[in-house]
Amino acid sequence: MLIYGKEIRERIKARVKEQADITPMAMAIIQVGDNEASRLYVRSIEKFGFDVGIKVELFNYPDDTSHETLAGKIEQLNLAPEFTGIMLQTPLPSGLNYGHLVNSIVWHKEVEGLHNYNLGRLLSREEGVKPSTPKAVMSILKGHGVDMDGQKVTIVGRSLVVGSPLAVMMTRENATIRLCHSHTHDLAEETRGADIVVVAVGKPNLITADMVKDECVIIDVGINFDENGQVIGDVSDAAKARARLASAVPGGIGVLTVAELFDNLCILKRQDQG
Ligand code: NAP
Repeated sequence: MLIYGKEIRERIKARVKEQADITPMAMAIIQVGDNEASRLYVRSIEKFGFDVGIKVELFNYPDDTSHETLAGKIEQLNLAPEFTGIMLQTPLPSGLNYGHLVNSIVWHKEVEGLHNYNLGRLLSREEGVKPSTPKAVMSILKGHGVDMDGQKVTIVGRSLVVGSPLAVMMTRENATIRLCHSHTHDLAEETRGADIVVVAVGKPNLITADMVKDECVIIDVGINFDENGQVIGDVSDAAKARARLASAVPGGIGVLTVAELFDNLCILKRQDQG
């Protein structure tokens, strides 16, 4: 059965709006260049912000912007009391150091949970902001009654924004994790035995029907475009047909990620007040 994120997104949205009605919040987004996917993502953040009454301000810079200019802007936003959260949109043009820049945002305003301090808090099981895509994966699983305790989970993709923090979050739910990547020798061997398979790679149809077991749960994080410009995931329809639950693309994790980002903004606001 295909599962969707819309209902959970609406629940998060109502919660965010409730907090925004009481305490005003604002988010600053720094975007460099004009990447199409990045533009779409920023637009969906602006739309969500508008819907819940949270100001989203975009600072857009040309491709050839220097590291110093961005660092200066971040310094200014760090000190601006009107902004609750700051987001540095990726991808950045080559030559700009994402790690350095994201870590120059003060941790208590870094809204994506990707500052080293926020990632450290995740590892040490402290409360705080966590990367929004893995949060979306956890929400869709929990929202559909999937108990992770003792389950064998294979995560394909180990990026800092999805796979690696997700492995930490699912371990916390007592799942047993295999974290796969481009050097994994026999991917099918790793996915076939899994009760839950999460795929975040960016390759259409990477996971085929012969690579999963019947009645497993599949979470497809991938976003790709087919030859007709339609959005498709990383997992084939035939593989999803074997699953007990499989997240839709589009309409699954993608619709939830922005909501989780705003959930993070609310957490930053509460931390600030606490
Ligand atoms: P990324 O940084 O490029 O990471 C891709 C990961 O896949 C890497 O760990 C890479 O391994 C691994 N990989 C590549 N080829 C592989 C193969 N043949 N077998 C196994 N693993 C392989 O990408 P990302 O930012 O994590 O995004 C992954 C996908 O999720 C993309 O389609 C992206 O658009 C989508 N995404 C969706 C959302 C959402 O809201 N739905 C949010 C974020 C990302 P190495 O580490 O060895 O290179």
